[in-house]
Amino acid sequence: MITGHTAVFGVIGNPIEHTFSPFLHNMLAKEAGLDMVYTSFHVKEGQLENAFKGLNGLNIQGINVTIPYKLEIMQYMDEVKTAAANVGAVNTVVREGDKFVGYNTDVFGLQMSLEREGVTLEGKSVLIIGAGGVSRAVAVMCAEAGVKSVAIINRTIEKAEILKAFIEDKYEMSAEVITREQLDSGEGIVKELSIAIQTTSVGMSPNVEGNPLEGSSIYSQLDIAVDLIYNPGETKFMSEVRRAGGIAVNGLGMLYYQGVMAFELWQGKLDPSIVNKCYDVFMDKMSK
Ligand code: NAP
Repeated sequence: MITGHTAVFGVIGNPIEHTFSPFLHNMLAKEAGLDMVYTSFHVKEGQLENAFKGLNGLNIQGINVTIPYKLEIMQYMDEVKTAAANVGAVNTVVREGDKFVGYNTDVFGLQMSLEREGVTLEGKSVLIIGAGGVSRAVAVMCAEAGVKSVAIINRTIEKAEILKAFIEDKYEMSAEVITREQLDSGEGIVKELSIAIQTTSVGMSPNVEGNPLEGSSIYSQLDIAVDLIYNPGETKFMSEVRRAGGIAVNGLGMLYYQGVMAFELWQGKLDPSIVNKCYDVFMDKMSK
């Protein structure tokens, strides 16, 4: 029951109507028996500063931040954790005493999702498809997991070059930008690729027919591929991976675990049995 004692959390974004975060966080809170409520706040263009002041004024305990404010929110933080600064995005704001601290939980989310699938990245070469906002979190996750090298392929080569420069500046992991022709030639780094992480929005609902690597010869050598898209649950890219004999995973696991980490930053460690139980409920609901 919501009372005068109930702690308020939420997610801000624009648009925000389709967010799954309230379902996820309220389920975790209920299972953990915590007196909290989590809702969504539609922050319209130009209103981020007011929204942030409101957080403070209304004593809201923590928020998630989604598109388009993950970068802009940083200026209001008293501290941005290194991982979030590296990823270039804050998706979770935590009140620590009088301070607002910015975190990014996407790296952990992806790590946990891969761990659940039994994927080992250490020493491997990984194909990163796309070079947009979330691809940085993917690169950081790969570097932290001990990936040997990444090949980046993206429609806009310049953005892939920026991602490569970021990786080389911060990490030991080697990075190469490749074209579609290079990918299909099977030469050089391509020979070593056994894992792919699809980070573009191509194939996302409602444009479900899209596939960033349609008809590529790479599929036959992929053991496992992750598509960060979660709607639809199976993208055309994933279908091609499966058809060629590989394992294909969608972005739901990442979505779930980035939420779990945010929750734990606010409320402390959850019992693993709660995390596992809610995972099953979340997957079941989201797969329908
Ligand atoms: P973004 O910054 O807008 O980047 C979009 C990426 O898609 C860029 O690489 C872009 O290439 C590429 N792209 C877009 N339209 C294309 C087209 N027609 N042909 C070829 N490439 C195209 O978006 P983002 O924030 O990185 O998110 C990307 C995807 O990740 C979304 O589907 C999002 O739902 C998903 N995501 C999932 C999770 C999760 O928890 N599972 C978390 C975050 C994001 P250019 O550089 O050439 O424009």
